[in-house]
Amino acid sequence: MPPNISLVKEAHKTISKILKSGDIAIDATCGNGYDTLFLAQQVGETGKVYGFDIQRRALEITEQKLREQRLLLQVQLIHVGHEKIASYIPVNDHQNISAIMFNLGYLPGSDKSVITKTNTTLAALKTACQLLKKSGIITMVAYPGHPGGLQELEALQNQINALDKSLFQYEVLEIDKTDLKKPKLLVISKKLS
Ligand code: SAH
Repeated sequence: MPPNISLVKEAHKTISKILKSGDIAIDATCGNGYDTLFLAQQVGETGKVYGFDIQRRALEITEQKLREQRLLLQVQLIHVGHEKIASYIPVNDHQNISAIMFNLGYLPGSDKSVITKTNTTLAALKTACQLLKKSGIITMVAYPGHPGGLQELEALQNQINALDKSLFQYEVLEIDKTDLKKPKLLVISKKLS
């Protein structure tokens, strides 16, 4: 892939093929709100987006963006770690989530010590796989160049490789295969049958 293609844009492109109006989606790391905004546009007013972040600041930025674009109606922002998502999504919506996005690492322009951590990211991915509807998709942008990021990525890849291959399909998109520190986009799809 040419180096100037953003993996976040690639994630949006991949999800836009699957996520439709009226669907339910999760942004597991709201950050600056770009993914939440994208998901809210995709699902429309008849759909629902649950957005999670542990930093209040990130949720405030996200809320502001959604308000400006008049997309707040279909979004619920939740100030809690993504490792707890199952408790915050109504049981009726479990196994009915069409897309779940993660953008790992730290919030750009903010405190770099508040960063996603391997154990909680792994727990969140496990739950995400359970909540995902058949034919649904999980995208994770991982940053092995951040402190702790390579360990997080390797642990994720081990967990993903151990998934039941009759249920899940896995693909990795990377900017530069020769540079281990470049971000990667992990795409996990739940098969239809
Ligand atoms: N690294 C990306 C941006 C990532 S933002 C880039 O460079 O563009 C990651 C967000 O995840 C941050 O806002 C951070 O607060 C949030 N986060 C960290 N741990 C979390 C957790 N356990 N649950 C939910 N959000 C978390």
